[in-house]
Amino acid sequence: MSVDVDLEGLTGQVKGPVLRPGDEGYDEERSGFQAGFRHEPSVIVGATCADDVRAAVRFAAGLDLPVAVHSTGHGIVTALRGEGVLISTHRMTGLELDAEARTVRVEAGVRWEQVIKAAAPHGLAPLNGSAPHVGVVGYLLGGGTGLMGREFGYASDLVRSLDVVTPDGTLRHVTAESDPDLFFALRGGGGAFGVVTAVETELVPVARFYGGGLYFEADDPVDLLRAYHEWTLTVPEQLTSSIGLMGYPPAPAFPEPLRGKYVAHVRLVFNGSAEDGERLVEPLRALGPRLIDSVREMPYEEAGSVYHDPTFSHAYFGGNVLLRELDPIALQTLIDLAGPGTPVPCIIDIRHLGGALSRPPAHPSAVGGRSAQYVLRLMTGGMAAPPEAARPVHQRVYDALKQWTVGRSLNFVYNDGTPVAEPQVRDLFEPETYTRLQSLKSTLDAQNLFRHTHNIPLPPTT
Ligand SMILES: Cc1cc2nc3c(=O)[nH]c(=O)nc-3n(C[C@H](O)[C@H](O)[C@H](O)COP(=O)(O)OP(=O)(O)OC[C@H]3O[C@@H](n4cnc5c(N)ncnc54)[C@H](O)[C@@H]3O)c2cc1C
Repeated sequence: MSVDVDLEGLTGQVKGPVLRPGDEGYDEERSGFQAGFRHEPSVIVGATCADDVRAAVRFAAGLDLPVAVHSTGHGIVTALRGEGVLISTHRMTGLELDAEARTVRVEAGVRWEQVIKAAAPHGLAPLNGSAPHVGVVGYLLGGGTGLMGREFGYASDLVRSLDVVTPDGTLRHVTAESDPDLFFALRGGGGAFGVVTAVETELVPVARFYGGGLYFEADDPVDLLRAYHEWTLTVPEQLTSSIGLMGYPPAPAFPEPLRGKYVAHVRLVFNGSAEDGERLVEPLRALGPRLIDSVREMPYEEAGSVYHDPTFSHAYFGGNVLLRELDPIALQTLIDLAGPGTPVPCIIDIRHLGGALSRPPAHPSAVGGRSAQYVLRLMTGGMAAPPEAARPVHQRVYDALKQWTVGRSLNFVYNDGTPVAEPQVRDLFEPETYTRLQSLKSTLDAQNLFRHTHNIPLPPTT
């Protein structure tokens, strides 16, 4: 079989570029936020529309080549290595907003920042997460734990429809009524079922909020974590928050007050008045002086300032566990194993869940672990330590917290490009969800072309 000959046919069918290793633009097309590793496909199709995606998927299926999708590169899990077709979607940036219906339809390459900007003049907001530069579709496929999650639920709970090219190369318009199984799978089940070309989702009526970040020097991180935990037990669902702990290098790239310090960063969004917000945040401010205090009323367009996530591409590795509660002993263990002074530097991030995140959505979805009240994430930057050094340290923490663990969040799995082991994929879902996803997989993708993601293997044949 000559891939070259087949490529000629493909080139004639797509409007966007078709690139092979060595071609100009090949490296740029497969690069993104994750700088620790990249896909190494035999072919990249720079899709400009759903027809390009269809042609690419049909081409791959015809040659039995695996397919992966690249939008922004924030969440690559399992990289293509030497063979396979990478479909890049960043050219697909169409957006249609219906202010009256409070919905938006976006194409596969749109990032949250584009939606935030389009929605703001109408007093509307999407359920984006901490970083506005994350892609809408990749985030929604993983559920979407957003800044206002406790009030409005997982972002994927508000999805109305998706257009998806399934592994047979067919473009389907998927709704709860038209295809309940695929609609279930595409909201929380990840990228294993095809290429989403567009998605339509609801917006919420939020123009302004009270929130931002409180940075404390964390000389006693356990005390701060315990105080944060107790505070979360008192707040209403209109307040969604998290706490991050990390040591800042003494480098000019970081804000001066944080340099060289071990810092706790509480981030919060309260959808209510500034007056009520101030009252709610008062117990946190009473914990001590803040190195930075950016909490104030602000327009939703400034939502990215709450976490102030880095926007530059870098290497990172990380995982998470969904926890039913934050036990005080568990918090001590966490700091002992991953806090300041441990040999592998870890960024600790605990997000407060519960509220609407714990309630079932209007239409069932694959998002698991809804009984969790917190998600604990551990990350290690590539500059601090390589994944092979970080993995066992993170794992020791997850093992120690097993008795409180109810699952894992798909979106917060930051892998090193190697395949995710099946037991870890199972942990992302409720057992009956996993069985349903496997069964759908065997109907839709019997070749398992879409395995270079959180691979859901076909069920064993009897
Ligand atoms: C700095 C940062 C902040 C984050 N904050 C949050 C947060 O607050 N809440 C949260 O829930 N998550 C968060 N995430 C996780 C993020 O939602 C996931 O990593 C998500 O997969 C990123 O999607 P992407 O399209 O931007 O990235 P990509 O790396 O381009 O895509 C990730 C994966 O999504 C799938 N995918 C993407 N587009 C398509 C498509 N069109 N069709 C089929 N499959 C597709 C593919 O499997 C692909 O490998 C964050 C990640 C980072 C790095």
